[in-house]
Amino acid sequence: MKDNTSRSTATTALQDPIFPEGIEGCIGNTPLFKIKSLSDATGCEILAKAEFLNGAGNSPKDRVALSIINMAEADGLLTPYSGDTIYEGTVGSTGISLAAICRARGYLAHICMPDDQAKEKSDLLEKLGAEVERVRPAPIVDQNQFVNRARNRAAEHTADPNRRGRGIFADQFETQANWQAHFNGTGPEIYTQTGGRLDAFVTGAGTGGTISGVARFLKPRLPKLKVVLSDPQGSGLFNKVKYGVMFDPKEREGTRRRQQVDTIVEGIGINRVTSNFEAGRELIDDAVRVSDEQAMAMARWLVEKDGIFVGSSSAVNCVAAVKVALQMGPGHRIVTILCDSGMRHLSKFWARVGPIGGKDDVTLDDVLNAATKQNG
Ligand code: PMP
Repeated sequence: MKDNTSRSTATTALQDPIFPEGIEGCIGNTPLFKIKSLSDATGCEILAKAEFLNGAGNSPKDRVALSIINMAEADGLLTPYSGDTIYEGTVGSTGISLAAICRARGYLAHICMPDDQAKEKSDLLEKLGAEVERVRPAPIVDQNQFVNRARNRAAEHTADPNRRGRGIFADQFETQANWQAHFNGTGPEIYTQTGGRLDAFVTGAGTGGTISGVARFLKPRLPKLKVVLSDPQGSGLFNKVKYGVMFDPKEREGTRRRQQVDTIVEGIGINRVTSNFEAGRELIDDAVRVSDEQAMAMARWLVEKDGIFVGSSSAVNCVAAVKVALQMGPGHRIVTILCDSGMRHLSKFWARVGPIGGKDDVTLDDVLNAATKQNG
């Protein structure tokens, strides 16, 4: 009869566990998994970095918020539990990550965001105890634009002798702490998880921190790697990467498109070059334009075929990853980012995606040909 010595040996060999320290300890080391349906349909390995599994604010912005706060503390600009307030302009994700980490470290969070973003995000911010200002969408030259409003609020705090603690502006669009979080975390993780073998990295840009930080880590190690920007309709970055100019010269000066990105996609696509985008711009090899219709068709596909429920920027990334796979041909390995969950987009993006479970014979061509508008 077989004894159970090996089992008891295993028990005694157990070591004292090391637990992650709070929610901060649950940031990073996200899984990289194969999206089966897209891999099968393209003959490539399409791998997704599940950034929505970051454990504080459930997006890649956890890495950035932690990096900004750590750097400010190291520079002596913030002290935990001293009443200091962090101000930020955000379409939501960075604010949510900051608000959660602020709670854990004893700071206050004051978040300014455009009022056309999904309500779930400002509701969540309020539940995290952040002070939330929803402002009308405005061009960057307007002092009431959400980023300017946050910068001004931090300056008002600093100028007011009656305010408790200090006020700092997190400044995700311009601070080097942003792309460095991805250079130190997301990039090395992708390199290790793929065993250093990948052919393309595809992602969108809001601040540009993800694409720049990951490209700056991977490109020197993998010179043949293609870094591709996925860009929603209405964003100027596609033209910037493809032709070196933000706008098609045929477009009139001062049109609305110059101010705002005309898409239902949230979090990516922008009409200016931020410091974080500039940090990696020369490492970006190509850009792919994705229409709202393609993004919605992909979001539905991912649920129907794989049970993956993501937000709009993740859907854009997956459309672009497929386009890159089809350009490169079978046998290539392509990594993209799943930024956040569909739960953050129920009232806006997902309200437009429509019901799941109708046709089960949808093809990739159907997704790519979904009422194309401004495709590239
Ligand atoms: N997806 C979502 C949902 C976001 O909120 C953001 C950041 N605004 C991004 C993608 C883009 O990331 P990055 O700022 O690093 O370019």
